[in-house]
Amino acid sequence: MKITVSVIKADVGGIGGHTRPSDGLINAVRKTVESAGNLLLDHYIGYCGDDVHIVMTHTKGVENKEIHQLAWNAFEAGTKVAKEEGLYGAGQDLLKDSFSGNIKGMGPGVAEMEFEERPNEAFTVFAADKTEPGAFNYPLYRLFVDGLSNTGLIVNKSLAKGVNISVMDVEEGKIAKLSLWEDKPTVEAALMYPGRYVISTIETKEGEPILAASTDRLHNIAGTYVGKDDPVCLIRTQKNFPATEEAGSVFNNPHYVAGNTRGSHNMPLMPVKLNTAATIDFCIPIVSALVFSMHNGKLTGPFDGFSTPDWDYVREIATKKALAMRSQGFIHPATLVPSELEYAEGYRARMDILEQKMKPIEEGSSSGQKKENYEDPD
Ligand SMILES: [Mg+2]
Repeated sequence: MKITVSVIKADVGGIGGHTRPSDGLINAVRKTVESAGNLLLDHYIGYCGDDVHIVMTHTKGVENKEIHQLAWNAFEAGTKVAKEEGLYGAGQDLLKDSFSGNIKGMGPGVAEMEFEERPNEAFTVFAADKTEPGAFNYPLYRLFVDGLSNTGLIVNKSLAKGVNISVMDVEEGKIAKLSLWEDKPTVEAALMYPGRYVISTIETKEGEPILAASTDRLHNIAGTYVGKDDPVCLIRTQKNFPATEEAGSVFNNPHYVAGNTRGSHNMPLMPVKLNTAATIDFCIPIVSALVFSMHNGKLTGPFDGFSTPDWDYVREIATKKALAMRSQGFIHPATLVPSELEYAEGYRARMDILEQKMKPIEEGSSSGQKKENYEDPD
C-alpha cells in the first residue's frame, strides 16, 4: 500500500515572544485537521518551540492540493486565535493572503514522502526551532557518510553501498543530485556551508526514499527577514535504512548552528523532549525526535526520542557550549557573518556610519610606514 507522510509546520504565534504556541492556538489547528473527514488516514499535532507541526498520513501523494490546503486552513485557524490572544508573531509564517494550490513557498515548511509501506514501517520526524535547514547537515553527514559515527554504514548491506543525496542551494533555488561514495568530497564541500547548501532528500541506490527535509528559507521567499526558517525532516528507519538509534545518536554531539536570538547567532543544537518551549536563555536552538510506527497509514506514537535519561547529559553539554559561546558576546563566531545577519538593516545602518568615518591611509604617515614594513618582512 502506497502511503504518503506529510509533515507541515509553521510558526503562527508564541506566548510573550518566540517561546511556544498557546493551548488555544494548538486546539484551533487540531480542530481544523480533525474536521478533514476521510482525507487523512491519521494525524498527529505537536510543537517544538514556537513551531507547530502537523504530521499527516494519506494516499494522495506529495504536493497534494487538498492536503496542503488543509494544513494552510489549520494554520489560518491558529493565526486567528493567536491574534485574539495577542500572541507574538501572530501569523508570521503565513506570507500570502490566500492559498494558491501548494503550500511550498507560502511560508510553512514541508517535508513529505510517498512510499510503499513496509509491514512494520518505522520513521522519525526531527523538528527543530531557532535555527535553519542547514542545522541538519552535520547530523545527517554523521548518519549517512561517517562510519565512525554510524557502524550501520559498514555492516548494513544497503547503507554500505552508499546513498543518493540531493543538495539544495537555498540562495539560487537549485538542486544537485550527488551519489555516494563517488561524490563524497563534493558532498563534504557543500555541507561545509550550512547557510547555503542543505540536504533536501536522500534515497537508497535503488531509489527507495529514506529522507525528506524542509528546505524553505523564509527571508528568500518574502524578500526580507520574517522569521527563522526552522526545519523539519522525516527519516525512515530500520531494515535497509539507518536504525532508529543510529538516526537519534547523530544528535548527541550538540554542534553549533545558526539562528537563536534575532536569528543572528551561532549556538549548539540541543536535543529536547516533545513539546518543549524555546528557552528564554538567548533561545538555544532545539530539536525534538518524534518516533513513529505505522501500519496501513495508522500511526502509533510518537515515542519521545530524546526523553531518556542519557539525553539529560547531552542537554548539559549543549548548555555548557551555549554559555561558552555567549561568553564572547557579539564577536564572531558568536554572531553570524554580515551576509547571514537576519536583522541586516540595523547592522547596515551601523556599518554606514563606520564607512563615513573611514579615511584613506596617507602615504608617509606613521600608519603607512608600518604597513610598508609589514608587507616587506625581510
Ligand atoms: Mg520557530
